Amino acid sequence: MKVLVLNGGSSSLKYDLWETSPEMIAADSDLLLESGNVERVTSFDDAIRTVFEKMGNEPVGAVGHRVVHGGDVFRSSVIIDAGVEDAIDKLSALAPLHNPHNLAAIRAARRRLPDVPQVAVFDTAFHATLPPQSYAYALPYEYLAEKKIRRYGFHGISHRYVSWRFAQIHGKTRADYRMITCHLGNGCSVCAIDRGKSIDTSMGFTPLEGLVMGTRSGDVDAGAILYLISHEKVEPAEVLRILNGASGLKGLSGVSNDMRDVLKKAQAGDARANLAVDVFCYRVRKYIGAYLAAMNGADALIFTGGIGENSVEIRKRICSNMEGLGICLDPQANAEKAREDRMIGSSSVPVWVVPTEEELLIARDTVRCILNIPHE
Ligand code: ADP
Repeated sequence: MKVLVLNGGSSSLKYDLWETSPEMIAADSDLLLESGNVERVTSFDDAIRTVFEKMGNEPVGAVGHRVVHGGDVFRSSVIIDAGVEDAIDKLSALAPLHNPHNLAAIRAARRRLPDVPQVAVFDTAFHATLPPQSYAYALPYEYLAEKKIRRYGFHGISHRYVSWRFAQIHGKTRADYRMITCHLGNGCSVCAIDRGKSIDTSMGFTPLEGLVMGTRSGDVDAGAILYLISHEKVEPAEVLRILNGASGLKGLSGVSNDMRDVLKKAQAGDARANLAVDVFCYRVRKYIGAYLAAMNGADALIFTGGIGENSVEIRKRICSNMEGLGICLDPQANAEKAREDRMIGSSSVPVWVVPTEEELLIARDTVRCILNIPHE
């Protein structure tokens, strides 16, 4: 079956066309036929027309959509019907920067392909297994029970894919391992996966909590935010923009949100760039330590995402002086550049690079939902 995978953003539409089937999934032989990005999107109807023109108007059997927020409603991928669209719409309140665009892409795809089944694959769904001790914030209980203010976690598609892939390489299942997966890209998060289940993750109610990211702050004392609003008189909307768009690597370094640029400046002796890299790496180390504690150890530490897969230097800085916790990189293996699954540390907690394939997982879930076969 040809599956079109769509990821509708604020001004872009990323697309991939996969050929996949239950047999191809089992043989890990799915084929990527096309991949691209339509930029400066003002109408998803136009963008989808462009996608089909680029694909030579190739017919598709199904469409899989990446949807950021599934709240506590969606615990796995689902076939989209009017009720699902409605629920995604309601969840826009929790993810105003993402869900409205995801939904607009869904609706445009339905207008173009009214008879083709469409499936939603959620960034939050893999974290539906979080136990209350990790999803509850210690706010008054009604905020959790009534307002649903809690940790949801994101990047679940990536954490799920790399944890599946790591187990598959070893001829086992995710349930055989305790893993810590670090997705380090423009957005960054860490996940503790205890015998197949996500039991904690660094992103929270929104994708802002946790690690330092390209332009997002990660963890900040809520008191500091309130001080900005009440004492410095910064408007809440402006604080939100600063936390999401002007913080992280970009804000601290003053250089860029791109780790390559920040590293280059840091290595040339720029103190602010070096501080940004130090804060970035130290934050990841703290979360790894926390998740070792949460699972009483780990059987694998896995790096993925643009930075996690490619940056020899960042992996080195994160993993240095962690021998006491059983983590040690092999410098030669770490320095290799191939984009492939590989072990980079054979310490008691083995360290791996596993390139993520979020679109592949979306294509596979789409087929599995339509044919009603169980997800891995
Ligand atoms: P997204 O989260 O948008 O999917 P990616 O996973 O592609 O993004 O990650 C993008 C980030 O990866 C950028 O910050 C970029 O600087 C970083 N990156 C890519 N290659 C390297 C590299 N060789 N060294 C350091 N950082 C890199």
